[in-house]
Amino acid sequence: MEREYLIKPFLTKQYTEISHGKGIYLYDKSGKEYIDGSSGAVTVNIGHGVEEVVTAMKEQAEKVAFVYRSQFTNDSAEQLAEKIASMTPGDLNWTFFVNSGSEATETAMKVAIQYWQEKGMGSKQKIISRWMSYHGITMGALSMSGHPLRRKRFVSLLEDYPIVSPPRGIEHAEELEVAIQQIGAEQVAAFIAEPIVGAAGGALTPPDGYYERIREICDKYNILFIADEVMTGIGRTGKMFAMEHWGIVPDIIALGKGLSSGYTPIAATVVSDRVMAPIIQGSKLIMSGHTFSANPLSSAVALAVLRYMETNDVVAQAKKNGEYLLNCLEKIKEKYAFIEEIRGKGMLLGIEFSPTILNTNIIDVAFEHGLLLYPAVGGIYGKDENCCLVAPPLTITRGEIDELARRLERSFASYERRMDGAE
Ligand code: PMP
Repeated sequence: MEREYLIKPFLTKQYTEISHGKGIYLYDKSGKEYIDGSSGAVTVNIGHGVEEVVTAMKEQAEKVAFVYRSQFTNDSAEQLAEKIASMTPGDLNWTFFVNSGSEATETAMKVAIQYWQEKGMGSKQKIISRWMSYHGITMGALSMSGHPLRRKRFVSLLEDYPIVSPPRGIEHAEELEVAIQQIGAEQVAAFIAEPIVGAAGGALTPPDGYYERIREICDKYNILFIADEVMTGIGRTGKMFAMEHWGIVPDIIALGKGLSSGYTPIAATVVSDRVMAPIIQGSKLIMSGHTFSANPLSSAVALAVLRYMETNDVVAQAKKNGEYLLNCLEKIKEKYAFIEEIRGKGMLLGIEFSPTILNTNIIDVAFEHGLLLYPAVGGIYGKDENCCLVAPPLTITRGEIDELARRLERSFASYERRMDGAE
């Protein structure tokens, strides 16, 4: 066997090579077509090969691709931050750019801790999070993640943050209050949650009232609320930000993935005026940052993505067509006993499978049938989720949704025949 040089996720797996993509479709080197039913890792919100983005990328690269943020500012980053402020609710007006969702949540964590330090309450350092959550792979972000599989190897190095239950019922919001009382509010900086649980929960959606109660508890005990909208943000759920479904304004929002629709790495930590105020008065700098933070090229790309979304009314399309897709999935569910639940909002939908089957096996069959799905694993120690996400680009048309549904059904039928030994 020829030796390899690229470290891929599974070192012994033979990966298919993609040659190009257009809209919701990807094509491999043999010419096989795939529907990108998961937008990669729920990232490519506006689809592949959008000309406007490619043009913006080229124009910025020709002007200047990189300047160091400690030496200069640049127009693209300034404009992007202003655009984000115009989109976010409440007084979420300040943006700190990073390069990945993990960095965005970890920066949120640091900003929260710094905020309390600046206010003379330096003992508030703990971040409460939920089981069945994923906030990122770096050590700080992993400390906050209720994702047993990814934590396992490093558990002795991690802070023991996740303690409250996944948001299956309104009663689970009450657990936050109990946890704060047990730890002591003077030790707690923030609570972090994915508005709709993505990679670790298969689009698990809290009931109405849950986040209203979370906000109340955070305010009562002087605790910041961080919404990790890395997956749910930028229109994915049919609103620009998923927290808007419940009318709740967080203190800090983490963004990533859809911010650039995958065209280049960029992510962001959006901070409220209230949280920034003591930092501006005190240290006058956020104690974090990366070489590539706020680089002109990524900023120009993200700006082009957001403008494209606005011009083409992409969020409204995601809401409308998301309902149509949900309906298609509900109909498919009727025919297959191994599907337990369909859930989610907009174009972030989840299928929960019965424990009798394995999500990754279904996902492999769908791959053969030219449909990409995203596995959702997470859970609480000893009880993993068994779901997949159906999350195509927000720009998918009705006709394309019909084709996605056909391929999904063909995959399920084929899987069932294989289980029966007939295929
Ligand atoms: N937060 C959430 C909610 C995510 O879904 C992810 C990625 N799946 C991350 C954080 C981490 O983002 P990244 O992989 O870009 O570091």
